[in-house]
Amino acid sequence: MKNLADRVARTEASGIRKIFDLAANLENPVNLSIGQPDFDVPDPLKDEAANAMRNGRNAYTPTQGGRELREKLLASRFKGYGENQLLITGAVSGGLLLAYMALLNPGDEILIPDPYFVMYKQLAMMFDAKPVFYDTYPDWKVDAAKVDALVTPRTKAIIVGSPSNPTGAVHSPEELRALAAVVKKHDIIVLADDIYEYYAYDGPLAGIREFCPDHTLSLGGFSKSHAMTGWRVGWAAGPAELVQAMTKFQQFSFVCAPTPMQIAAAAAIDFDMSGHMREYKKKRDLIYDGLTGAGYELTKPGGAFYAFVKTPWGTGTEFVEECVRNNLLCIPGGFFSERDTHFRLAYSAPDDAIRKGVAILAGLRNKK
Ligand code: PLP
Repeated sequence: MKNLADRVARTEASGIRKIFDLAANLENPVNLSIGQPDFDVPDPLKDEAANAMRNGRNAYTPTQGGRELREKLLASRFKGYGENQLLITGAVSGGLLLAYMALLNPGDEILIPDPYFVMYKQLAMMFDAKPVFYDTYPDWKVDAAKVDALVTPRTKAIIVGSPSNPTGAVHSPEELRALAAVVKKHDIIVLADDIYEYYAYDGPLAGIREFCPDHTLSLGGFSKSHAMTGWRVGWAAGPAELVQAMTKFQQFSFVCAPTPMQIAAAAAIDFDMSGHMREYKKKRDLIYDGLTGAGYELTKPGGAFYAFVKTPWGTGTEFVEECVRNNLLCIPGGFFSERDTHFRLAYSAPDDAIRKGVAILAGLRNKK
């Protein structure tokens, strides 16, 4: 169609859907492909949202977000931040879109980890910016010197996700401190994707914000921590000028995040999710022990709910096609990377599905 803008052709449709097409005729597949929690929103939080609706809290909130959630955030994780440094967003995706919009001119560069969450790259394509990948193979560590060498006069921002989708990697304080030094040296902005911060299994999680607060926009939300993926609530907190630019664009696009969900999200901040996180740590151990026991090569994921595993043979796509033929759904690494040498398993699934998945993979290990 001649009417479409060039950005349509520049942006690729999500590859995950292609695998679902391939899998469409499987009866009852073992599904380790879905990047969302396998538990539901806790009932008391559903009640908060339902009560808000019944109490007439159904109109717009101010663009920057409603009072309840803003006050909670400014009194807890963003203590010391000014009112003009916080925006309630349509979850992290909404925050990322607004941040790209506020930071990137056509031709500007944004540093993106490889492997990456697909949206990081496709948003760059949408805005005609250039994604520049910093390689984290084979163990998903960030090498600050490598990042330093990639910075050019066009570099505006860098994305840091810890814990990461798709690798599950958690960056150490030393890695983040070194990276923060590069960020400050070049005066670029960090987009810290903190969406998996509840899912850190091996001790306290460090955030890059601690090391370069004036250069960090923290993006987080409730989709993964409280299973509210369909509720679309999150936040962006950081440098006032950037947050205000994003607020301006939110005013002319999303308008505000959904009001009843913002109110329930305010209550979610004090809601104890640690039981689920303990369960997920066991799932991490189950999949890691199972895969290494079956001879697979992978770095132990420290967080999120993904394992990014080297294929025993073939490309990621070839290997995943064979997985699908054997009733296991997972995603080729090439969807998350400029290489296609791995595959992603999401262990946000019942333990039984994880065990079945590992058994299928054990059978495929030496198939070629
Ligand atoms: N960032 C990462 C790394 C993700 O994995 C996801 C969802 O899968 C998102 C952001 C988007 O989450 P939200 O529901 O907050 O838009």
